[in-house]
Amino acid sequence: MYFDYAATTPVLSEIKEQAIELLNKYENPSSVHLKSQGIKNEIEETRSKVAKMLNTTPEHIFFTSGATESNNTVIKGFYYKNMGVKHTYFTSYIEHPSVLEPIQYLSSFDDVDYHQVSLKDILNLEVFETLTNKHKPSFCSFMLANNETGTIFPIEEAARILHENNTYFHVDATQAIGKITVDVKALGVDALSFSGHKIFAPKGIGVVYLKDPKSIIPLFHGGGQEKGIRCGTENVFAILSLKIAIDYFLENFVNISKHYVLCRTHFLSLLNQKGIPYHLNEAEGLKNIVSIRFPMKGDAMADILNFKYGSMISVGSACSENKSEKKLSHVLKNMGLEDHEIQRTTRISFGVNTKLKDIEQLVNNIENVLSVYQ
Ligand code: PMP
Repeated sequence: MYFDYAATTPVLSEIKEQAIELLNKYENPSSVHLKSQGIKNEIEETRSKVAKMLNTTPEHIFFTSGATESNNTVIKGFYYKNMGVKHTYFTSYIEHPSVLEPIQYLSSFDDVDYHQVSLKDILNLEVFETLTNKHKPSFCSFMLANNETGTIFPIEEAARILHENNTYFHVDATQAIGKITVDVKALGVDALSFSGHKIFAPKGIGVVYLKDPKSIIPLFHGGGQEKGIRCGTENVFAILSLKIAIDYFLENFVNISKHYVLCRTHFLSLLNQKGIPYHLNEAEGLKNIVSIRFPMKGDAMADILNFKYGSMISVGSACSENKSEKKLSHVLKNMGLEDHEIQRTTRISFGVNTKLKDIEQLVNNIENVLSVYQ
């Protein structure tokens, strides 16, 4: 039983059914053949769907390999565009490494200053306004929702404050997409990223929205694909799969949102019914992510659930597992949790295929683990 949808999602059955057909579209979309041009048109249809989902128009949408590339494209692309001019990068302490690391890297250059803002200071808009007025950042990147806790950032309000200071505002919407409405106009952002594999498309496809495509210098130069923003022969299979996933989300968004609320409510009420002791790290965030502490070590809980009961949950972000030096979650630390609370945390995340009976089984398994190992 899979409860790690925040790490990645299975590929939608509609995509699997059409996979061979999609893979047979091998012609290069840049070739002159009739079939190639047909594929190019389908890529453009996907672009229009993504644009519709984000409430923008297709000329602002570009395909990449994933959110990591989209984030790097904006962060480094903005730097290349403004190289030599002294500027200040702003970000929060609880960003994904694909935002933190490129900014950290740029901060080693003489023309870049770097300030990190705590979640507490972002949520308190008066404090955030004071900090913004003080540092006058030229670039800011915040996530729309956090990958470990589901915490939602007040992006619209931040955008207003940042734009009063002429700050370029990038938002990483990788966890938010498909869970809450992501409307680039309402949010008021200059750039936005996400990955297809968080919304049931295959891995290897990402999106970057650019309000002004000329606001960055591309990372890759080459054959001019994606209007030069992301050169390289298109990942046709993944782009056309994304179209199927977006169609699914556009049609079912209301029911999907209700399903996440139902999963969360069911999970928490079962814990309450059984008298299982727990603490939520975030009560108000995305409904599909539950960041929760039980009275035992989170990694032990996750391992026993996984190896003994086949219930796949996680202790935090899958990406941090690749780091050679395992540290306590920087996200939970910045949220003010004590070390012992962080060590007890697990992340349980639901998806469109999560069944209520699977949640019942998970809660039984948690109860069993706690009764033996607590
Ligand atoms: N940002 C956030 C908030 C994420 O959760 C992730 C993936 N866990 C990424 C960026 C990077 O996405 P990808 O690994 O698909 O490039």
